[in-house]
Amino acid sequence: MNCWESIRDKTENKEIDFEIFYLLLSEFQKINSYQKKRNVEKIIKKYCLVNELLWFDLFVNNQIFKIEYRYECNDVSCSEKISEAKCDLCGEKVNEHDEFEIFVRLTKNIEEYLKEYNRNLLFSNINKKYLPTLKDIKKNLSDVVFFIGAGVSIPLGFPNWVNLFKKLEEGLVEESDKKKFKEYLDYGDVFKMIELIKRESSLYRKDVDIKKYVQDELKKNKVNDCDNLTNYKSIFEVSRNFIVTTNYDHALEWRNNKDDFGYRDLISFNRISGTTEFLKELSIFHIHGELDSIDSMIVTESDYINFYRNKKNLDKLTSIFSGKRIVFIGFSFKDKYFKDLFGELNEIFKENSYIITNNLHSMDIDDLVEENLREINIECDFDKIVETNELIFKYLKSELII
Ligand SMILES: [Zn+2]
Repeated sequence: MNCWESIRDKTENKEIDFEIFYLLLSEFQKINSYQKKRNVEKIIKKYCLVNELLWFDLFVNNQIFKIEYRYECNDVSCSEKISEAKCDLCGEKVNEHDEFEIFVRLTKNIEEYLKEYNRNLLFSNINKKYLPTLKDIKKNLSDVVFFIGAGVSIPLGFPNWVNLFKKLEEGLVEESDKKKFKEYLDYGDVFKMIELIKRESSLYRKDVDIKKYVQDELKKNKVNDCDNLTNYKSIFEVSRNFIVTTNYDHALEWRNNKDDFGYRDLISFNRISGTTEFLKELSIFHIHGELDSIDSMIVTESDYINFYRNKKNLDKLTSIFSGKRIVFIGFSFKDKYFKDLFGELNEIFKENSYIITNNLHSMDIDDLVEENLREINIECDFDKIVETNELIFKYLKSELII
């Protein structure tokens, strides 16, 4: 019988929600030291509406908590396991001393039980073989820079990079053009989609027409408060450095402002004169521009070439990423776009880089390895990606101790 079953037994069918019980114990696991009884009761009260004193006793009686009695005797700090015991120094009862205080912490058994539970939770969602990679990221968090792709904004209603351009098809009339467009769409070749549109459509002839279209598409979507749907909050909680995104949307800014994670608002690459300010402050850095400034947006292949062939830009990027470890998230390696992007940046990243991705074929993984990227490939249904990513972030935040 595990502690959960045992405690449910003892409370004779009192309804105890396992989720709450687990969160409560996880909080004590995270504290990982003896705490004053009254502080522990406060924490219990936060999670349970029922009498916290009853819970406290229940936890002690069921070997969930172990107790230590601490007191002062002649200015010496002492501790005992039994409150009625006699003090070694003066012979008085322990609980009759000044500064007598009850301390508790989780018992070893419960800690082991929690770890086992957490391991099962993590490894039933993420292949165990990725644990060394996760550990590597956790160990180097101070150097980690999150590099955010469109996938992270999808739960907020934004399209992925390829689908963002899907509706451009309305600018085409000829069946043969439409067929060709679909071919490029299936292959994820956004640049070719744009090229075709510019050549054959009377609606979108210039780069600026395409960018206005992108701007309109993204502005249609109002960012709403739906934290449980995205990984943005956790990204901020884990991140210790500037954050880089190729997204034009302002989801990162919205999330930063909501809780004030201390990041500076909206910086597109072309607004930066030097690089030192990045390194001093926490910034959100829109490497491909942002939707309020059409001029800043890097969308077409020629924008791309101009940006990544520009020595000044490359020098800037090199100095920004120097000594940093990149964690890509929200990029699909199936997109030709991402392969191109990474091909351009790969030269710049000297340290290990990682990608949190999902449902990749082993052939795609070979490509990642070729590019020196360490993958964490999560195999799960599309609607479980955010939830599963959260397990990774919980591990990185030391909220999921294994
Ligand atoms: Zn004493």
